[in-house]
Amino acid sequence: MQYQMMMRRSLFRRPPHTAKYSSSAAAVEADRTVRDGARHDWKKDEIKSIYNSPILDLLFHGAQVHRHAHKFREVQQCTLLSIKTGGCSEDCCYCPQSSRYHTGLKPHKLMGKDSVIEAAEKAKEAGSTRFCMGAAWRDTKGRKTNFNQILDYVKEIRGMGMEVCCTLGMLEEQQALDLKKAGLTAYNHNLDTSREFYPNVISTRTYDERLETLKHVREAGINVCSGGIIGLGEAEEDRVGLLHTLATLPSHPESVPINALVAVKGTPLENQKPVEIWEMIRMIATARIIMPKAMVRLSAGRIRFTLPEQALCFLAGANSIFTGEKLLTTSNNDYGTDQYMFDLLGLIPKPPELSESEAKYSEAENIKEAVASSG
Ligand code: SF4
Repeated sequence: MQYQMMMRRSLFRRPPHTAKYSSSAAAVEADRTVRDGARHDWKKDEIKSIYNSPILDLLFHGAQVHRHAHKFREVQQCTLLSIKTGGCSEDCCYCPQSSRYHTGLKPHKLMGKDSVIEAAEKAKEAGSTRFCMGAAWRDTKGRKTNFNQILDYVKEIRGMGMEVCCTLGMLEEQQALDLKKAGLTAYNHNLDTSREFYPNVISTRTYDERLETLKHVREAGINVCSGGIIGLGEAEEDRVGLLHTLATLPSHPESVPINALVAVKGTPLENQKPVEIWEMIRMIATARIIMPKAMVRLSAGRIRFTLPEQALCFLAGANSIFTGEKLLTTSNNDYGTDQYMFDLLGLIPKPPELSESEAKYSEAENIKEAVASSG
């Protein structure tokens, strides 16, 4: 009898080698996200467990959530133009535009309207649906003339049937409302890293000031674009910390750029070791599982990754890229190379999200263009 009991017990006991095949945190949380939708009460430990799931499992479950929450072949193409370059008073350690570092970058004042519109038209022709304008400023306080010029650019580009994004440093409440009135779709303001690691990267503005800008953007009814950079010398805890802050905001950012540091000579981070593709995949898939609806953007540093490596990022849940030869001041993949990648991987450009009247205007413009080019 005792022998039979022992046999029965041993039959029902899981052999030790199968324990490692029990569901990973990525599998459990992806299933829950698909079943119950987005949540905002993530604990750091939960995110850490997802981030540390076996890499292929994490990638697979990033893809699972991606396919549930998005049209998985669609990739948003955004073009980022530096409309005011260099001479910035801030000390962000990774940035060649800071006036504190000797990177050989030539500063430029705000670009005139014709050049900006021309760049937006070129981006649209190349298939870009969102045009982002970046200015190397701490904030826009005391820059009324420049700010009004930018409002004018926003209106004009929005009228071309493109989504428009700006990244101009810290914003006050009224400036966010003005940008919204001008038709701005999204505002980019990255948190860069975790609250704990942040003082190692920037000393001239606080983490809370960054969050305050995001609050003004959100309250003005503008979409929030906020993410970070990996490869700054941060620990895994900091990557998890960054994702935790983003995923516990009252509303998840509509866009989450994941940047790999581009170490520029002359900046304090010039000797940082390049980020590996597996680190990017961990960040992208984790972001996808915990913020299912966000556009997760494979951003700076993409040029270093091969086409198959980029394909893994799209599989893991990235669905937005920056196109165009420059990404502010650093090199980026050119239009032709990206076109080839889209064709090869069967990716489809994501159409812009416009209001009904804007969509009608854009459609009429496209018909006009088609008629003109056929004649
Ligand atoms: S990241 Fe922006 S705020 Fe920081 S130094 Fe560069 S331009 Fe200035």
